[in-house]
Amino acid sequence: MTPNEFRQAGYEAIDWIAEWLADPRKYPVTPSMEPGELVDALPASAPEKGDAGSGLMEDFRELIVPACVHWNHPRFLAYFSNTAPAEGILGELLAAALNMNGMLWSSSPAVTELEEVAMSWLRQWLGLPEQFFGIIYDTASISSFHAIVAAREAADPEARQRGGRGDLAVYTSEQSHSSIEKAAIAAGLGQDNVRKIGVDDAFRMRADLLEEAVRADIAGGKKPCCVVATAGTTSTTSVDPIAAIAAIAERYGLWFHVDAAYAGPAAMLAEYGDCFAGLDRADSVVTNPHKWLFTPCDLSAFFTRKPEVLRQAFSLVPEYLRTDDAPRARNLMNYGIQLGRRFRALKLWFVLRSLGREGVSALLRGQIRMAAELAARVEAHPRFELAAPAPFSVVCLRYKGTDEQNRRLLEMVNRTHEAYLSHTVLRGRYVIRIAIGNMATSAEDINHAWELLQKTAANL
Ligand SMILES: *Cc1c(COP(=O)(O)O)cnc(C)c1O
Repeated sequence: MTPNEFRQAGYEAIDWIAEWLADPRKYPVTPSMEPGELVDALPASAPEKGDAGSGLMEDFRELIVPACVHWNHPRFLAYFSNTAPAEGILGELLAAALNMNGMLWSSSPAVTELEEVAMSWLRQWLGLPEQFFGIIYDTASISSFHAIVAAREAADPEARQRGGRGDLAVYTSEQSHSSIEKAAIAAGLGQDNVRKIGVDDAFRMRADLLEEAVRADIAGGKKPCCVVATAGTTSTTSVDPIAAIAAIAERYGLWFHVDAAYAGPAAMLAEYGDCFAGLDRADSVVTNPHKWLFTPCDLSAFFTRKPEVLRQAFSLVPEYLRTDDAPRARNLMNYGIQLGRRFRALKLWFVLRSLGREGVSALLRGQIRMAAELAARVEAHPRFELAAPAPFSVVCLRYKGTDEQNRRLLEMVNRTHEAYLSHTVLRGRYVIRIAIGNMATSAEDINHAWELLQKTAANL
């Protein structure tokens, strides 16, 4: 494409995006297609002669869009719904144009320094002390992997050289995300050394059982190394007792990691002060702005008060990357597994500065209110029940019937393509989940989904 051809196609693309953002409800949330349809609609091999970009937008509209699940749709209420606002989209666009690789400070200062600024802004909103160092990774799974490796480094510095001995134990609740176990596998700690601590009635880790497990391991010759609390579990958004777990971590010398992938942004709301009390005592914290902070996927924010441990765990500098930079010139490649680093900070910075703390707080509170209203209506309904407390913007509910009926109900609602909900299993029972997180979602949208559920249930 020549710059002029780009200008033409670019205007067309921006127009398409603007129209999408202005009226997303005219699109079905989910596609109506059979597996393989898109593959069959596209040529089996790449062309010998390119077409210099002509027809790209047409194929995008006609072939790609109909195969999309629209995560940016206001009635996408599955998993953790999220938002790509216009500001974030611009950040992605401009970052793609600059195409920088911020492995070193000197390989592009803008990448490193804007990451420092945006992460410092976010750190302050979350109420984390100044000594917390922030770094952006792609996903919470990768952030938690770095926490687990840092924990291993702190407990057994020689493991990096000789490999693990299989004697380190990691503690997390039975409601925690599978990424914690995956991290233990990948870090060489071993899946058998992950202790899944039991939870209370509200799906929160029981601190008394945690301490029992730590003591039992010490008595059995294991070395407790890390505890991972979850602030906003994936199924129900329950929050583990952070302060009580911090106290145990301090007593037994464990690395304390908090997985706040979804709910972290709520730490900026004063009314959640008690819920997040003790977060500042963590050794590391992860939250995903691409979940509940209105930033396009992917962007995971990782904070640690011990960046020197992270650096010891990962730094391995080949000669061609050695630099004699000044102390303020951080080389982010030394703080993780990846060398290259794309310019994710731009979209985060765009979002934080254009929404502001008040804008973000108002959006979070609005969504929390919609979830509370839905929860109240579910509770008041004779044929439905709440399956868990709803402390944030996710509601877990059940039709008062069999698991099979709930499964069918979800399937029938999703088959309308008017809303998209997902499910989980709690205490062995099938549960429908409604997650509010898109900034365009209105009370009408939630009402629409709730009406669909009731209407469909009446026909079961
Ligand atoms: C979503 C989620 C994750 C995984 O997030 P990715 O960024 O997709 O890796 C981890 N932990 C919790 C609590 C989550 O909700």
